[in-house]
Amino acid sequence: MGREMNIKENLQTLKTSVPEGVCLVAVSKTKPEEDILEAYEAGHRVFGENKARELQSKANNLPNDIVWHFIGHLQTNKVKYIASSVDLIHSIDSLKILMEIDRQAKQYKRRIQCLLQFHIAEEETKFGLSMEEAEEILSSTEFMKMENVIISGVMGMATYTDDEGQIRKEFRQLKRYFDHLKQGYFSDNKHFKEISMGMSGDYKIAIEEGATIVRIGSLIFGERNYSK
Ligand SMILES: *Cc1c(COP(=O)(O)O)cnc(C)c1O
Repeated sequence: MGREMNIKENLQTLKTSVPEGVCLVAVSKTKPEEDILEAYEAGHRVFGENKARELQSKANNLPNDIVWHFIGHLQTNKVKYIASSVDLIHSIDSLKILMEIDRQAKQYKRRIQCLLQFHIAEEETKFGLSMEEAEEILSSTEFMKMENVIISGVMGMATYTDDEGQIRKEFRQLKRYFDHLKQGYFSDNKHFKEISMGMSGDYKIAIEEGATIVRIGSLIFGERNYSK
């Protein structure tokens, strides 16, 4: 619609409702590099992308001190595009993808932080693990041998609905998953501390329910246009 977005103002407004201790990921998927630079010049450093090649090319072209998060479903054959630049991958939904990230990170002598993505929404289509699947990964000998991934916490997406009660219930479920894993697998592990939940429409509820990372796109950069 050609609506003028003032990215800097949007960020400033948003930051008044995101507490200091909560990491704000500016979701820049589909948005041009100029938009990211505008946020960068306003002091923002953490950006989220959901396509591997797009993250790769933006990381190549934009300042080096940007912290890149990958937030979308990741295929094993795409890990190589982001392994040198990504800081945190939110979307671990199989042992296979984790093994490939470990392998690629090793090539770059890096450690890549990862979140276990849980299926918390009612919708069938969203990716994510069940608790049983997550525990299977964490108990596997393959996982025990990994040296180049760090499991930093959990991620989830709530159902797309106006029903706040429903959304809150799902975020609470994710918090319970986090607590369960912390207690059972990561009690002495200082890295396992993140709960990534909340987007433009539901981030306030997510923060109330214990989010440590929120992922916000349209409130900062405006609506996305997928038609190109
Ligand atoms: C696109 C996306 C977001 C941001 O969505 P907005 O509603 O624009 O804030 C957050 N998380 C994931 C996983 C996404 O794909």
